[in-house]
Amino acid sequence: MTKRTLLAVLAHPDDESFGPGGTFARYAAEGVDVHIAIATDGAAGSVAAGYEDAREKLAEVRAQELKNAVNILGATLHTLGYRDSGYIGDPANEHPEAFVQADEQEAIGRVVKLIREIRPQVIITHDETGGYFHPDHIQCWKITVPAFHAAGDPAQFPDIGPAPFQPERLYFSAFPNTWVKFFIFLFRLRGQDPTKFGRNQDIDMTRVGVARSKLHAFINYRKYWEVKQAASAAHASQGGGGAFGWLPKSVQKLLLARDTFMRAYPPVPNGYREKDLFKGIGE
Ligand SMILES: [Zn+2]
Repeated sequence: MTKRTLLAVLAHPDDESFGPGGTFARYAAEGVDVHIAIATDGAAGSVAAGYEDAREKLAEVRAQELKNAVNILGATLHTLGYRDSGYIGDPANEHPEAFVQADEQEAIGRVVKLIREIRPQVIITHDETGGYFHPDHIQCWKITVPAFHAAGDPAQFPDIGPAPFQPERLYFSAFPNTWVKFFIFLFRLRGQDPTKFGRNQDIDMTRVGVARSKLHAFINYRKYWEVKQAASAAHASQGGGGAFGWLPKSVQKLLLARDTFMRAYPPVPNGYREKDLFKGIGE
């Protein structure tokens, strides 16, 4: 039996926990070898109240938080070593070492190297909107898609990593717009502006989310809800998750303990549904 192996390529320290952390926790607990590659150092992130002192050495603080979180999830951490870019229009985008300024071929090569070393059957990254249009998230999608296809091709990046290896499936982390609409409704009920969501108030919730028919994989992680919460809490400088902390815990678990993904490769028709990213793999 082949060891089931998963590699996620995500933008920031915290995306692995605030994002599909429940899926990682579940697969790790079920014996899958889970690898998480984080592209940037998170240096351009803002800090939660009480963490103002961490501003100067944010990359260092976040590296430690990330290490702890990935440990809690039961996964292995890799980093791509880029500098955090800011959100759209942020001057941090202009920094020469910013992820968005990276040479694309070179960046693709870094992901190819990881794929050839780790040999995962399943790859996860952000979707082409990056979830909420963050340039670093979009950049992850931009480099991971070609890396997925190049890793198995001996003619591409011949000098990078061990032997070519072709992963079987590529998924994009994304959430349904029905879910988003529901939360917009709740935000409005609470008198909050859904176009200014998040600690930086830079996320327009009315623009995010994917049509349900384009979501193909639904991963239930109710059993690992607490693991995801603990991993998110490890990112204390980023508020530790809990954007929905005002909802009762039981309701949160019921509504939120499921990650959704688009299957990019091999392609499937709209309306296709699966409950396991590894169905038929390594069995
Ligand atoms: Zn992010």
